[in-house]
Amino acid sequence: MSSTKCDVTLLYQAELLLPYQDRVIHGFTGKPASLGGPDTPQNPGAAVQENRQKLLKAFDVPHLTWCIPEQVHGHRVGRTGDKDFAQTDAILLTQPHQPVMLLFADCVPLMLYDPDHHGAAVIHAGWRGTAQGIAKEALQAMQNVFGSNPETILAVIGPAIDVCCFQVSAEVAQTMAASLDLALEDLESLGFLFWDKAYPENPRLNLKAINQFQLSRLSVKQIEILPDCTHCDPNLFSYRRGKDGRNSAFMMLQERPI
Ligand SMILES: [Zn+2]
Repeated sequence: MSSTKCDVTLLYQAELLLPYQDRVIHGFTGKPASLGGPDTPQNPGAAVQENRQKLLKAFDVPHLTWCIPEQVHGHRVGRTGDKDFAQTDAILLTQPHQPVMLLFADCVPLMLYDPDHHGAAVIHAGWRGTAQGIAKEALQAMQNVFGSNPETILAVIGPAIDVCCFQVSAEVAQTMAASLDLALEDLESLGFLFWDKAYPENPRLNLKAINQFQLSRLSVKQIEILPDCTHCDPNLFSYRRGKDGRNSAFMMLQERPI
């Protein structure tokens, strides 16, 4: 993982994708430049519009237009070129020069890149999306659309609220266990769930690790997890800490390599 400063914000990038920079632009943004919201990510104010434009400029593509879906914590997978991005929490990148951005403020951002078929996906996985298997849906869409082999896909799990801070209700923990076909005790033994004596009703959940587990079960071998916690890192927006803006995860395919 590396973070560098671009014109707009600190940029968090994955070591796994850096060797492919000439094929696919990617990054996760934090403060100070909110890329959405705070309350209406789909109807941003002028400052947010400006930040989005600055980000395009930072990557020398100021003439392009972001594709930003309406995220609803569901499991619908869209693709670039679609006319409608309502209720869409993952987007397949099927064409070059179409930048895609999803917005986050604690939920888990996922990126998948298939270097063999030059296809990608950006995914929004909060606990609801994770429990609905959004990563699996996106991976299967990549297999269907690109003919991807999970074993050669590069997966990145970006900055999100981490196990240090993500307290949930026992009901959410139970829902998550059921979605993985596991018992609550299994979640504990796998290191996905922790109970603190001080909070007997509210265990902590490791959403990043659960998404990694879901991808691993589907034969994805190369997975990088960025260590940053949105709730701990003051350089990132956190819904639970502030509700004052949105981080982004963005990708854009360059021309297909020869
Ligand atoms: Zn934390």
